[in-house]
Amino acid sequence: GAERAKNVLILMSDTGGGHRASAEAIRDAFKLEYGDEYRIIVKDVWKEYTGWPLNDMERQYKFMVKHVQLWKVAFHSTSPRWIHSCYLAAIAAYYAKEVEAGLMEYKPDIIISVHPMMQHIPLWVLKWQGLQKKVIFVTVITDLNSCHPTWFHPGVNRCYCPSTEVAKRAALDGLEDSQIRVFGLPIRPSFARAVLSKDELREELELDPSLPAVLLMGGGEELGKPLGQLIIICGRNKVLKFTLESHEWTIPVKVRGFETQMEKWMGACDCIITKAGPGTIAEALIRGLPIILNDYIPGQEKGNVPYVVDNGAGVFTRSPNETAKIVTEWFCTKTDERERMSENALKVAQPEAVFDIIKDIHELARARGPLANTPYVLTASFSSLI
Ligand code: UDP
Repeated sequence: GAERAKNVLILMSDTGGGHRASAEAIRDAFKLEYGDEYRIIVKDVWKEYTGWPLNDMERQYKFMVKHVQLWKVAFHSTSPRWIHSCYLAAIAAYYAKEVEAGLMEYKPDIIISVHPMMQHIPLWVLKWQGLQKKVIFVTVITDLNSCHPTWFHPGVNRCYCPSTEVAKRAALDGLEDSQIRVFGLPIRPSFARAVLSKDELREELELDPSLPAVLLMGGGEELGKPLGQLIIICGRNKVLKFTLESHEWTIPVKVRGFETQMEKWMGACDCIITKAGPGTIAEALIRGLPIILNDYIPGQEKGNVPYVVDNGAGVFTRSPNETAKIVTEWFCTKTDERERMSENALKVAQPEAVFDIIKDIHELARARGPLANTPYVLTASFSSLI
């Protein structure tokens, strides 16, 4: 008879929108490419199955990132392998039972981790269950350059790196060439596959058809003279949206909250101002938008700055005045610079990355041959052994 659908479990956590965006990109691409062949489950496993501290990771992460010095210390002090291995081993011993329960419920044939903390514990549990030969485990790294070493685990079938910089780090950390693939950061298929005309988008989004448009992600700076129009996407920050809406602007401004169709807003604009989030950067590159980076999270996002700047696709400045000056130049005296950056952006963009990744996973699954009936028979529980 027909082979049953293979279960794909995507492990993510809402620490930053990027992990969820990547997880959903992979899910959507699987559906588009293979339909019912795969059943995709996206889970914030830690939040659902484990107790403190893991179920609280989102809040802790947001707290630390707000207090940037704390995050810097946490990021760099846990970088040596012996430190994070010990730390994760302690957590694994404590939470293996819950992780096990999660795995037993979803019975994944393939596990995809899109989070730096989700290699060690699931792989330990698979090993103790004697499942590591039966279940395919892959990591999809969502940082463009300077990523935390907990991303790299020698026990994975594949480690998908978004850039050669990350691939080099993976090799240095002991992964074999056969495990490493470089396809790019997975971005929602709507970005890769959409054919969009700027004029039509501007009409649909009710923007001025003729004025150059700047897309500002996350926060508001004044851009000065009415040389263009400004679209500010505040995401989930409602207070910011309210504050900006009540501001008297001297140029046409649109203030929006969380938008689900970012490809349209990006497609309607001529450049973008954003912090160095990997997802936003990869999306802007696909749309050929020159990027002004105005901030980054220390640690994992620091390397995204040279990634953009060295590839000639944008600039970095924290100064609102400097930003206003650059934008003015891009639209008046240095339009050639803006065009060159736009071309460079398109050159480094990898819109097909998500499809390359899922096709490779599909090949891995096929190489395993037809899957046996579910390999999930609960043997001696890992947690009962310790
Ligand atoms: N995003 C969105 N709607 C919004 C704001 C952001 O869909 O209103 C998406 C954005 O397009 C990107 C993701 O959220 O895909 C943010 O990920 P990124 O890696 O840039 O930053 P993070 O939030 O993970 O630090």
